[in-house]
Amino acid sequence: MEGDDDVEMREWCHALPKIELHAHLNGSIRDSTLLELAKRLGEKGVIVFEDVEHIIMKYGRSLPECFQLFDLFHILATDHETVTRITKEVIEDFAAENVVYLELRTTPKKNEAKGMTKRSYMKAVIDGLRAVETVDVVLFDSSNENGSESTIINGTSAEMKRRKIYMGLLLSIDRRETTTAAVETVDLAVEMKDLGVVGIDLSGNPVIGEWQTYLPALKHAKEVGLPITLHCGEVPNKKEIQAMLDFCPQRMGHVCYLEEEEWKTLKSLKIPVEICLTSNVRTERVPSVEYHHFVDLYNAKHPLALCTDDPGLFSTSLSNEYFLVASAFGLSKGEMLQISQKAVEYIFADSEMKKSLMKVFEDAQRKLVL
Ligand SMILES: [Zn+2]
Repeated sequence: MEGDDDVEMREWCHALPKIELHAHLNGSIRDSTLLELAKRLGEKGVIVFEDVEHIIMKYGRSLPECFQLFDLFHILATDHETVTRITKEVIEDFAAENVVYLELRTTPKKNEAKGMTKRSYMKAVIDGLRAVETVDVVLFDSSNENGSESTIINGTSAEMKRRKIYMGLLLSIDRRETTTAAVETVDLAVEMKDLGVVGIDLSGNPVIGEWQTYLPALKHAKEVGLPITLHCGEVPNKKEIQAMLDFCPQRMGHVCYLEEEEWKTLKSLKIPVEICLTSNVRTERVPSVEYHHFVDLYNAKHPLALCTDDPGLFSTSLSNEYFLVASAFGLSKGEMLQISQKAVEYIFADSEMKKSLMKVFEDAQRKLVL
């Protein structure tokens, strides 16, 4: 049972405006939606529903169970309608956690049987943004050069003053993809810059694929000025970690298996790190939150952002990640506010959006009890 202090701290972490920089669309699906979609697939005979039901219902899944769910996600989101629905719900859930800026990442998928191309998949994602009902979605718009705030794309705000969630989209290159497919994703990201796409991510099963396969696409992204974040060091792979550090992306996620030399390089390059505590513990990359490299990076004043990786998959929320930091490392409310506010500097959206977010934090500073 949690004491009164913990309950109060949880409430405070919930009220804190937060910046989410590392969340995958599929891994953020609501459990209730997952259950409903899995049931439907079971009825169609695509999967055996009973095999996945207990995993979906479970809080705190084991590593093999997480992998089973990963596989399920890939079968679920194969039509436009589902992609739109999932996106809408995911954004509403983040907004309900007081996430004020969300950089949502997803791998554009092809499904010829459903007439889905990478482009039409992304259109379905954007339709999901437009369908959000609970908050105004303010989308990064690279064509907006007049210095005014970016576009509200689901706007009813002319009549109603509502809360806002600022957003950017990242297109993920999956490690199973070929060089050609990876380049295609980068080209699509360039094409969609004025539709909220702010950067590129490299993700997927870390034991699959070679760095050299994605490098041409990542270099291309760099050349056209698209910011990049890499899932780095999820498994021990010295050669790849070194190559990723040499590439010097704008951000890195996880960085679990770095050796001393590589820590030094990371720190000297000051590459901001997306810290995913629960994800790293659940996938057994670190033994517990207390032993997480967050504390070393934090003490070294290294740029970092607390993130969920996947709130659905890992049964967490961004508020919970802040609570974990407070309880494990005894951080004060002021220090946590500072972590959240600092993350604004590492977002991939433009300076106008950063300015809007700084205002959100100035307001919060006045309202939050520290
Ligand atoms: Zn991830």
